[in-house]
Amino acid sequence: MSNTKENIKRGSCPVYKKCGGCQLQNLTYTEQLNFKQKKVEKLLSKFCKADKIIGMNTPYHYRNKVQAAFRTDKNGKIISGVYQSGTHHIVGIDECMTEDVTADKIIVAVRKMLKSFKLTTYDEDKQRGFLRHILVKRGFATNEVMLVLVTGTPVFPSKNNFVKAITKQFPEIKTVVQNINPYRTNLVLGDVQKVLYGKGYIEDILCGCKFRISPKSFYQINPVQTEVLYNKAIEFANLKGKETVLDTYCGIGTIGIVAAKHGAGEVIGVELNKDAVKDAVQNARANNLKNIRFYQGDAGEFMEAVAEESEKPDVVFMDPPRAGSDEKFLSSLIKMSPKTVVYISCNPETLARDLAYIDKNSTYKILKIQPVDMFPHTAHIETVCLLSRKDK
Ligand code: SAH
Repeated sequence: MSNTKENIKRGSCPVYKKCGGCQLQNLTYTEQLNFKQKKVEKLLSKFCKADKIIGMNTPYHYRNKVQAAFRTDKNGKIISGVYQSGTHHIVGIDECMTEDVTADKIIVAVRKMLKSFKLTTYDEDKQRGFLRHILVKRGFATNEVMLVLVTGTPVFPSKNNFVKAITKQFPEIKTVVQNINPYRTNLVLGDVQKVLYGKGYIEDILCGCKFRISPKSFYQINPVQTEVLYNKAIEFANLKGKETVLDTYCGIGTIGIVAAKHGAGEVIGVELNKDAVKDAVQNARANNLKNIRFYQGDAGEFMEAVAEESEKPDVVFMDPPRAGSDEKFLSSLIKMSPKTVVYISCNPETLARDLAYIDKNSTYKILKIQPVDMFPHTAHIETVCLLSRKDK
């Protein structure tokens, strides 16, 4: 283990308990990795021996998407930070060891500018005031930054001067968006958006492919480890150039697009979220890919339909949400019987349940289990598995 992995001092963050975002911060990074490894082994070793978890060399400031809430205290001081876990109380913070450094600096700079621009913070109880949240996203490969100001009211006095001032201070800000959220809600973003500067989106590069990131689009939050994860998934798929590949639960199409660029013959993606599918189509175009298409709908229903067709896919990537997959999907997968299945999971518990179903109801062999640490200091565990059809 390198020294950088060791130099987390236990509980070194001053708001560790109040924030609650980093559940494992009382452990050194090595201990965190051991904890995650043991959990994966406990749940999955009945299927196959798990490889050693791939940790980060520098497990800090990995988050490319940072959010801050704003309030004014009784002395008139403006505070920005995170919600205390399980409450609606904002804990003031200027920096966080998991968040992008530039993003944190932009949030502090905006906070300091508010008074001179006579801008207020939004008061949720009185439903009055202006700034509610800030959302910053940064493309780590491109260094393009998007600044989203979430406001409780639509009127933005002296917005042009404000945008000029913040983009002068941070030239990496390529776009500024005002999102209006007047609702009593836990959701950060509202429905209405105005682009104040730039194109309204930024771009990033993952595994040699370009991706468009808009305020609402889903994008992996740790791009360094996402590349590690996707490279493993592509390695497991062992593409030779002619395969038909399904990218199920595809989000904005990232895995399928990387597969299409790295040797797949034809890729079909399926995703429930309409906006994500639109982004996926756009992303395929931006990468000049003609051998990929996307469907919007439930992955289980899609699999059921494909299992009925005569031409069957060779490789299925599946990357379901925390709840895992469902029986409709899994039974159709077994019926379809692709040679290779690559299961990417963000929840080892539901992964264990789904693998048990496949193990019981098919002749698939589980050949590889590879945990990847996508979220250092938190309890989240990502795992990629290789399943191979046993040919009779
Ligand atoms: N593969 C993507 C996204 C994984 S997150 C990536 O690597 O970035 C899981 C995705 O599954 C989300 O985009 C979510 O919208 C989608 N999803 C959830 N339930 C679904 C369902 N029943 N059918 C299809 N997609 C679903």
